[in-house]
Amino acid sequence: MQLYNTLSAKERAALLEEAGEDRLTLSFYQYAKIGNPELFRNHLFIAWNEMEVLGRIYVANEGINAQLSVPAGNFEKFKEFLDGIYFLKDVRLNIAIEQDLKSFLKLKVKVRQKIVADGLNDDTFDVTNKGVHVNAERFNELIEDPNTVLVDMRNHYESEIGHFKGAVTPDVDTFRDSLPIIEEDLSEYKEDKNLVMYCTGGIRCEKASAYYKHKGFKKVFQLEGGIIEYARQVNNKGLENKFIGKNFVFDHRRGERISEEIISQCHQCGKSCDTHVNCANEACHLLFIQCDECAEKMENCCSQECVDVIHLPYEEQKKLRSGKHNSNKIFKKGRSEKLKFKK
Ligand SMILES: [Zn+2]
Ligand SMILES: [Zn+2]
Repeated sequence: MQLYNTLSAKERAALLEEAGEDRLTLSFYQYAKIGNPELFRNHLFIAWNEMEVLGRIYVANEGINAQLSVPAGNFEKFKEFLDGIYFLKDVRLNIAIEQDLKSFLKLKVKVRQKIVADGLNDDTFDVTNKGVHVNAERFNELIEDPNTVLVDMRNHYESEIGHFKGAVTPDVDTFRDSLPIIEEDLSEYKEDKNLVMYCTGGIRCEKASAYYKHKGFKKVFQLEGGIIEYARQVNNKGLENKFIGKNFVFDHRRGERISEEIISQCHQCGKSCDTHVNCANEACHLLFIQCDECAEKMENCCSQECVDVIHLPYEEQKKLRSGKHNSNKIFKKGRSEKLKFKK
């Protein structure tokens, strides 16, 4: 049986264009013990390929993390399939607010070591001893409590353009880095304060909350479904929105606006701005915030050095890049000395 996509991404795009059939873009995750991820992967691929599901799905011994789109007409079938798997029955599906017909072009189901690269040694603590899940309403109450410490579990470039009022936003580049830093910063609150955490869709908090409980924090809470689900509940139930700015997302949109406030600035001129771009110099590709005027003036580059590079003939640019494959790793995501207004 054919387990892999036979159509190229290009052919898929053409098909979608032609079909004009509405698709639903959604994501879900679940921690669960999966004995044979390879077998499970094949099971998913066969069934979902049939339903014309497209997307990026990771399967590991610890569970599943899926971002995908499904033809609206096949949604019921898809849901029934999930409900037939005991650990996916009634799993929360985060359906994107803005639908994008071409969000995914292929179905890729991959077996990984973990569903999130968290750098944790799971054998050392009980990952199922999680924090208490709270909905948007309860979350709003909790973060008003003076006895609460609110922590943003995302990276610096995510919280920079949007976060909850009053949240601690660790200056970290990866989830892995954030865990010990937060633990250190909050060590005095272990016994008595509410530790309330949130992330984009909830998945990072699932294990982080268990980790902090293991580290001795007594009252640990996590925002169920993350900022995405919070925004949905706030809209549907008319609750007060305590999130300011944009929610950073990892697809081509880069951010979903949650409130009108712009809380960050252009990294080049300091003007109020929350638009993330990647430097146009392919060898650099730095993620940073750039306003329209600076984009024009700097030809979509992060620095004069990169402007100079993109003016070289393409062959010369390639030569410059060869041999120093890792040159862009010198820049951590969203950090560069050359950005005057990057704090
Ligand atoms: Zn600017
Ligand atoms: Zn650059």
